[in-house]
Amino acid sequence: MNLTIGSRRGGSRTAPTFSTDRLMPVYFIQSQFIQNDRIVLTGDLAHHLRDVLRCRPGEIVSLVDEKQVQYRAALDPVNKKQVVANILRKDESPGRPALSITLVQAVLKGKKMDWVIQKATELGVTTLIPVITERTIVRPKSEREFHQTERWQAIAQEAAQQCGRVDIPSIQSTVTLDALLKNPPENSFKLALWEAERRLSLKSALRNMKERTSISVLIGPEGGFSSREIEKAREAGWASVSLGPRILRAETAGTAVLAILEYELNETR
Ligand code: SAH
Repeated sequence: MNLTIGSRRGGSRTAPTFSTDRLMPVYFIQSQFIQNDRIVLTGDLAHHLRDVLRCRPGEIVSLVDEKQVQYRAALDPVNKKQVVANILRKDESPGRPALSITLVQAVLKGKKMDWVIQKATELGVTTLIPVITERTIVRPKSEREFHQTERWQAIAQEAAQQCGRVDIPSIQSTVTLDALLKNPPENSFKLALWEAERRLSLKSALRNMKERTSISVLIGPEGGFSSREIEKAREAGWASVSLGPRILRAETAGTAVLAILEYELNETR
């Protein structure tokens, strides 16, 4: 099981049962590890708790499963093979956010894409779809594509744990812009961020947005979108919108629009 650790100041509302208020990591687990009121941890996570953190019996850990159910559990005496935690409290998931946000991001060069994935996760993105456009600088080789998506998914998991999300954004496989336009995110209010757009602002576009449960934003690469690409996006139902007169770096534009959407539309967060 992949284990990447984030950590956040102990959220324990009750006094910790051990002398130091250790930074409380939140670990993602699969619900299959849960047996009645116990969680049986094996593999990397058991190793991390037992051998790296040297957790002691009674120590409290926070865990969350793929259904976003959160657990606080007290560790049993650990043994070589497995680590058992007795569930003290279980919190059903807080429910889906008011709005699910999909970021369709043209693949950026080098670490910029990693950075976008990390910031988008912190800012509440639900799904991230990397796309190849006319001016995308990097074109991942097909044999490396699976590895690339896996690496990006691990970055999203790490960022989700670090910021205390109970869900991990889904990083989809990289597709071409044409394929994305033919098969867009379902029932989504679709916005294409275009640096040359002079009529419709993001603010006005959001005003026209009826009650929706999903919004998708399309961000171009370092070289921006060609007007042909924006034409095709419009024909496919994407509204091209402006973020103002300045040309933002691709990684800035995605982060900015997600922060705006979080503020404007997901006040429940
Ligand atoms: N050359 C710069 C900027 C490229 S524009 C760079 O190297 O990053 C990258 C993308 O950001 C655009 O395709 C668009 O999706 C978005 N963007 C940047 N500024 C914008 C603006 N003022 N309004 C709308 N989208 C913008």
